[in-house]
Amino acid sequence: MERLTIFVGGRWREGRGEEMASVFPADGSVNARLRAAGIEDVNEAVEAAERAWREPEWRGLMPHQRASILYRVSNLILAQQEQLAELQTRDNGKPLAETRGLVASAAATARYFAAACEVLEGELPTQRSAEVMTLSQYQPLGVIAAITPWNSPIASEMQKVAPALAAGNAVILKPAEATPLMALKLAELFEQAGLPAGLLSVLPGKGSVIGEALARHPLVKKISFTGGTGTGRHLAHIAADKLIPTSLELGGKSPTIVLEDADLEQAARGICYGIFSSAGQACIAGSRLFVHRSVYQPLLARLTALAGGLRVGNPLVPGVHLGPLISEKHRQSVADYVALAREEGGQVTIGGEAPADPLLAGGSYYLPTIIEGLNNDARVCQEEIFGPVLVALPFDDERQLIEQANDSVYGLAAGIWTRDFPRAMALAGSLETGTVWINTYKTFSISTPFGGFKESGLGREKGLHGIKAYMQQKSLYLALSHQVNRWSD
Ligand code: ADP
Repeated sequence: MERLTIFVGGRWREGRGEEMASVFPADGSVNARLRAAGIEDVNEAVEAAERAWREPEWRGLMPHQRASILYRVSNLILAQQEQLAELQTRDNGKPLAETRGLVASAAATARYFAAACEVLEGELPTQRSAEVMTLSQYQPLGVIAAITPWNSPIASEMQKVAPALAAGNAVILKPAEATPLMALKLAELFEQAGLPAGLLSVLPGKGSVIGEALARHPLVKKISFTGGTGTGRHLAHIAADKLIPTSLELGGKSPTIVLEDADLEQAARGICYGIFSSAGQACIAGSRLFVHRSVYQPLLARLTALAGGLRVGNPLVPGVHLGPLISEKHRQSVADYVALAREEGGQVTIGGEAPADPLLAGGSYYLPTIIEGLNNDARVCQEEIFGPVLVALPFDDERQLIEQANDSVYGLAAGIWTRDFPRAMALAGSLETGTVWINTYKTFSISTPFGGFKESGLGREKGLHGIKAYMQQKSLYLALSHQVNRWSD
């Protein structure tokens, strides 16, 4: 067990907050202990960041010089992929196969935004007059608060830190209470890569104390948040008072749709991955399944067989599909939802309990679960469970399907399984979600913007515009003639 320090304004030291720990959810063992950041640390980090981003040492860097720091971080990540994946698995219990993917994604994100920084261009709007020419430039915002959840730390943290730094800002990263390890590791790697002191601080601690103080700090000029919709709405209020921009990646209750002509084997595998990978602890989890009645029985039979074959166990063991949930408290919340589904008249056709294996008794495991027999207005179809729980609903006609799929406060993602591509495109156009996957699910590309419709979020991350989300535009007018402004003649 390790004792860690936090990273404030370029210095590694004890936090001034309360004692906290990173716990391996597979068995409750403690990975590391540390003292969280206190309010004074927030102030110190933000003030250091404010000084650092204005320093010529950072502001004066050419884009390729700023980019080179991100390229170095990407290489450092790749050089220790396996150790980082294991660290991430210990911090949040995701199986190694998944955390390897998250680590690779973090390296790719750093590289992508380094490249984006190098090729970013200002604009020269079409000249409207012979007397004036205009230019539009992109400039950094200043100090950015990045607040992240526990489900994919290294990937979601890099998704904020890389574009924010590439854009010339300073960043204060506040990781989730349960998972401080990757954020601190990232700070180490950025320091090693030569990032000037103060440009990145990492402040583990309670969201309602440290996250809140950070968001409210007058020098913080943008809040970039990923987490629950309730917290996102609260942060949006803070941002509204301060008149600063936010980017909010929030919850979901994503529909996956199987049309009657779908390749059922491919669909069953995709749906299984879409809901049960990460033990369902993903904002994009495909948690509502709509299947055309004519193929409902065979699809459900295949899906149930696949779910029954998934290996639940220690996430460090190769071949395990589902690790534990993040905590005992969270497992209880998932179990409560399944109990609610039963009360509402649903039938649990597989799962619906913790595994019986005594070897798994020390961890917060829950079996892949499928519920049938409910309507879309049931609470388990409307509220985000964030666990390995799929609710399956048959449908008869497409209009009713679209109404039900869109009958949700959320609008993060959707999946469509069909061999009829034009029909899929038309259906995709009708779905009120930020992402639609067709004959695939939960596949990602860093160059493709990601974000939610409705209460699933505000703003987009990733893609070339991802860097501009951390910048503000400045327009310059240049007189080309001495005749301009001769008003008083
Ligand atoms: P989740 O349901 O994924 O845990 P939360 O929204 O509770 O989502 O947490 C996501 C992140 O937001 C965490 O880092 C958490 O500490 C932080 N957080 C929670 N409450 C607040 C708050 N009032 N102000 C700022 N950050 C917060």
